[in-house]
Amino acid sequence: MNIHEYQGKDLLRQYGVAVPNGKVAFTVDEAVKAAESLNTSVYVVKAQIHAGGRGKAGGVKIAKTLDEVRTYAEELLGKTLVTHQTGPEGKVVKRLLIEEGSDIKKEYYVGLVLDRSTSRVVLMGSEEGGMEIEEVAKATPEKIFKETIDPAIGLQSYQARRLAFNMNIPKELVNKAVQFMLGLYRVFIEKDCSVAEINPLVTTGDGQVMALDAKLNFDDNALYRHPEILELRDLDEEDEKEIEASKYGLNYTALDGNIGMMVNGAGLAMATMDIIKYYGGEPANFLDVGGGASAEKVAAAFKIILSDPKVKGILVNIFGGIMKCDDIATGIIEATKQVGLNVPLVVRLEGTNVELGKKLLDESGLNITSAESMADAAQKIVELVK
Ligand code: GDP
Ligand code: MN
Repeated sequence: MNIHEYQGKDLLRQYGVAVPNGKVAFTVDEAVKAAESLNTSVYVVKAQIHAGGRGKAGGVKIAKTLDEVRTYAEELLGKTLVTHQTGPEGKVVKRLLIEEGSDIKKEYYVGLVLDRSTSRVVLMGSEEGGMEIEEVAKATPEKIFKETIDPAIGLQSYQARRLAFNMNIPKELVNKAVQFMLGLYRVFIEKDCSVAEINPLVTTGDGQVMALDAKLNFDDNALYRHPEILELRDLDEEDEKEIEASKYGLNYTALDGNIGMMVNGAGLAMATMDIIKYYGGEPANFLDVGGGASAEKVAAAFKIILSDPKVKGILVNIFGGIMKCDDIATGIIEATKQVGLNVPLVVRLEGTNVELGKKLLDESGLNITSAESMADAAQKIVELVK
């Protein structure tokens, strides 16, 4: 789960990690009021969306007066911001962060991520902050430094200090940078983050080291023990179909293609995506209905696929182990009764109760193309959506 920058900064503040003073605003008036309450002569008006790249896209404005704050707030609220991370459709700005301006000396990068190859959390740092770290990694990988953290003892001060020196943080600010990193690590561990990225971390004219941006992601599987984090969820930022799917415990991710897929098991779903692509098609979603899905769950899943206007055809690929093929058939028939079926449907069923499942589908009167193997199914649906 993702949260907004201002929420991330609130969390950091709770852990003693330095961030500028600031407040969230949902309206223009709130933005001006927030600015009034800040003890500063320079304000920063920042669009709050779940995507980076706002700076380049005009989502970060520097204001010198309250009138300018008003002007920028009017301009940004309700605007669709398109950044390299939002996709071409962009995201509508519904919240602003009004912050005290900072006298930036230099921008750095600091991030905590899980390194799956070592199964450890890694602290990364670079003096090439402010820009995309992926670009730095490509152009000047030698400017990114890493510290691998032993989970038994956590991030050690000496590691943070070594990283700060490698990042060329001025000597007199190294202790502050170390405090910053140790605090960031505590947030990461205690809140079960999957990513904590500060880009930029800045040093300021008055000798501070603080986070000007904050990107925190949380492990969904750990949210049950962080109700305070779950409260920060902003459904406006999430795909409606994914929200609906999460209500039914379905693993659903919307994609850009036009072939809707319903599959059981994440591995089979990945393989099905691969084979669709192999035959020249593009999946419209990833959908794993899970091992022992009920007919109701299957119906919910099928309706979500059908609600996507991009979907020009559907492929159902089920290997019934725990899952029964007749439950799948019942779910599909139920869903199409409720919302209709106006795109081609290819079904490949195998496993428990397969004969019964096929019989139900045959007798349903639905226009279904049945397939014998995965390759056969993929070829058929790719052909049908052409
Ligand atoms: P992103 O582009 O979505 O990652 O948004 P950031 O929060 O990182 O802001 C982009 C850039 O705007 C930063 O790299 C800074 O150069 C600038 N910026 C952000 N906040 C401030 C601020 O408080 N003061 C000043 N002067 N510049 C800022
Ligand atoms: Mn940033």
